[in-house]
Amino acid sequence: MSLDVTRHNTDFATAPQISPSDVAAIAAMGFRSVLNNRPDGEGGVDQPHSDTIGEAVMAAGLQYAYQPVISGQLTAADAVRMGELLASLPKPVLAFCRSGARSTKLYSMATQGEAAFASTQTTNPDLLGASSCDWSADQHDIVIVGGGSAGVGLAASLKNRQHNLRITIIEPSDTHYYQPAWTLVGGGAFNVADSARPMASVIPPGVEWIKAGASGFDPDGKRVLLDNGQAVSYQYLVVATGIRIRPDLIPGLAETIGKNGVTSNYSFKTAPYTWELVKGLKKGRAIFTQPPVPIKCPGAPQKAMYLSCSEWRRQGVLKDIEVEFYNAGGVLFGVPDFVPPLMDYVKAYDIHLNFSANLVAVDGPAHKAWFDVKDAEGNVTRVEREFDMLHVSPPQAPQDCVRNSPLAGADGMVEIDQFTLQHVRYPNIFSLGDACSSPNSKTAAAARKQIVVVANNLMALRMGETFPTRYDGYGSCPLTVEHGKIVLAEFGFGGKLLPTFRWLINPIKASRLAWILKKDVLPWIYWNAMLRGREWLAKPFEN
Ligand code: FAD
Repeated sequence: MSLDVTRHNTDFATAPQISPSDVAAIAAMGFRSVLNNRPDGEGGVDQPHSDTIGEAVMAAGLQYAYQPVISGQLTAADAVRMGELLASLPKPVLAFCRSGARSTKLYSMATQGEAAFASTQTTNPDLLGASSCDWSADQHDIVIVGGGSAGVGLAASLKNRQHNLRITIIEPSDTHYYQPAWTLVGGGAFNVADSARPMASVIPPGVEWIKAGASGFDPDGKRVLLDNGQAVSYQYLVVATGIRIRPDLIPGLAETIGKNGVTSNYSFKTAPYTWELVKGLKKGRAIFTQPPVPIKCPGAPQKAMYLSCSEWRRQGVLKDIEVEFYNAGGVLFGVPDFVPPLMDYVKAYDIHLNFSANLVAVDGPAHKAWFDVKDAEGNVTRVEREFDMLHVSPPQAPQDCVRNSPLAGADGMVEIDQFTLQHVRYPNIFSLGDACSSPNSKTAAAARKQIVVVANNLMALRMGETFPTRYDGYGSCPLTVEHGKIVLAEFGFGGKLLPTFRWLINPIKASRLAWILKKDVLPWIYWNAMLRGREWLAKPFEN
């Protein structure tokens, strides 16, 4: 084994970058924990991802922690965090980074105090790093992490309030997606190409775009750590990194999704395959799944099912297709007012509902899926089902850069006050959209309202004024119950109904007008108003 371990004492050792294949040897050497100090992406494709190493370490029965730190920019906060980890991890601990030097330095800062840190000078390249940046000279007024619906919309709204604000968006993707359209794509009612635009075309004029991913947050040092090894400093930070789709968490799913009759509207790539399967299926069994929370657009799993049934009914083949819904949750929809109209469609389509039923494995080529089904006493039974078509809404989780940072709450989301959207521990930080801990329905419609709240409150904070606006939990799930009709579910905290068009659309009845709104009006409003700082249909609750 080529592992080069330096033992500092009986409890602590360091090593250069390790790989999953080193883990057996590390366990055999008696280590009980592994601590990764190297930011993901720093070493390009050759560097194993933290999740991959973590999985191997935990599979070997050891504990794993990820504390990414930047070469040449170690802070007192980094040292404090290292001290906390050293106190909590089972010993002996093996820490690693690119060369081992950064972990060694962090260890001495954590164990010898800040004086040692302040006086350290080094010529070690692993500590200085080619990527270190002079962040006092490079201070950004407002840094927004994530250029999705919430991040871009907020940047535009802030610019409209004060055009000379220095705003920076950190976003790794070249493409911006309007994800609410993917339900319609899977139902053959929307062109998938129209749901995507180049990121450069939606970044508001005058806003700087750093094309990189955030790998961590240092809120005490007011810095965002990037996956290219650099760091960006800020006065005010807004986290809008969305939520991560995790098909990899279900054995067999990631390798089969998009073929073998297995599809998902939760991705630009596979939503068109849903429609291909629906058009082609004439008989057999179609299964639709819903994962445990958190989930973006909680109505989307059943929207896919109703639109598929609508097409099969149109073709006259619905009677030959057995439709089953496996929902990890306990109810059809979280707001009780909308359940009766949905149940009318469940009955009309003869859908077999299963609750507390969680997809746990898929074998695409064999056309089989397995579910863990929990009964009222909490007993779990594993159920095997064959399928001709399987529509999966994959598990979803907070982004790693948030979950592993001091910004996260117990659920891994950015921990904010649900009314002000300000971070509960760091007053100069806000969060909105799918990434934040507010208990609203995670939708673009929610982000549309949250943008105004964050923009107003952040501007007030800058001026030393009290917050003028509060978020009421508004979210919207246009439930596509059949081709041409929608139950327009709009609600706030506690399931309170908040219908925008109460004089036009009955919120608990399927409506043609709501279909036109979703298919034609809302996409137009999204691209031309929400992403351009025009706050239509977004009036916030005034304090
Ligand atoms: P996103 O729009 O997902 O953007 C997050 C951004 O963060 C992305 O650009 C990503 O690249 C970036 N990012 C991720 N990690 C990092 C990182 N480490 N560093 C920097 N940037 C990062 N909403 C509705 O209102 N109505 C609907 O009918 C509806 N239907 C839906 C149907 C489907 C199938 C899906 C998938 C979603 C639906 N939604 C709907 C939900 C809606 O799309 C999301 O709630 C909305 O996009 C959330 O916006 P966001 O900015 O928080 O996240």
